[in-house]
Amino acid sequence: MNKLHRLLMPALGIAIAVSATLPGQALAWGAQGHRLVARVAETRLDPQAKAEIDRLLASEPGASLSSIAPWADQLRANDPDLGKKSAGWHYVNMAEDGCNFSPTKHCRNGNCVVGALQQQSEILANRQLGDAERLQALKFVVHLVGDLHQPLHAGYGHDRGGNNYQLQFNGRGTNLHSVWDSGMFYPLQLNDDQFLQRLQALPAPSGVHAPDLQRDPALWAEQTCRIATRKGLYPDGHKIDERYTAVWEPVAEAQLRLGGEQLAALLNRLLDTP
Ligand SMILES: [Zn+2]
Repeated sequence: MNKLHRLLMPALGIAIAVSATLPGQALAWGAQGHRLVARVAETRLDPQAKAEIDRLLASEPGASLSSIAPWADQLRANDPDLGKKSAGWHYVNMAEDGCNFSPTKHCRNGNCVVGALQQQSEILANRQLGDAERLQALKFVVHLVGDLHQPLHAGYGHDRGGNNYQLQFNGRGTNLHSVWDSGMFYPLQLNDDQFLQRLQALPAPSGVHAPDLQRDPALWAEQTCRIATRKGLYPDGHKIDERYTAVWEPVAEAQLRLGGEQLAALLNRLLDTP
């Protein structure tokens, strides 16, 4: 535990207590994680993609790629029909099958994060469609690429991606999925600008621009799943301690950075050709 962590530990319990009451918190990276994936991507958009994103966002004053990023987790409260329809779009459970993605087994009727991202990407890229439909697709794409990089969104089905794996963190009861969504980040106490700087300072992830990786979200899901199945990700004794966060919090940060880079590469590809 470094000095900063020691100083901030008293705030951690409060932050976790607050986080437990936030809506949608069990669905995805917390809102900050989603915003950060979008913030990283914003710095890597090419001019054509940026212009088209700005044009689509113009119908919602003040909106940005990062402000729309958590939107899909708020649908259950704000648009129950769409929330219900898209409830299965945030994850894909395939760890039980060695992280080998099978559309028929893991994504029937496209009802998983891989299939949903493919469908929404096609809508976003189709300039024959109306702007409102394409803006909604952009909101899903930004969100779902984030989810695809949270290891427990491509994990085991038997415990609902760690949602049913109860544990103790800083003396309180929570679950593994929640710890990965946001709990591990609270001790940092960083605002979005500070957190973005920290992510930008990480080594550049490799393979982002490899053509096969760029075109196939199933490969992203398989990469993410392989983190979920690493030894030690499920903590011994159902308890998160300093040794756990020292190992896994940097992995979570690297996934936020990777998600942002992959999102930018995807948006540049989808929106490059007018
Ligand atoms: Zn989500």
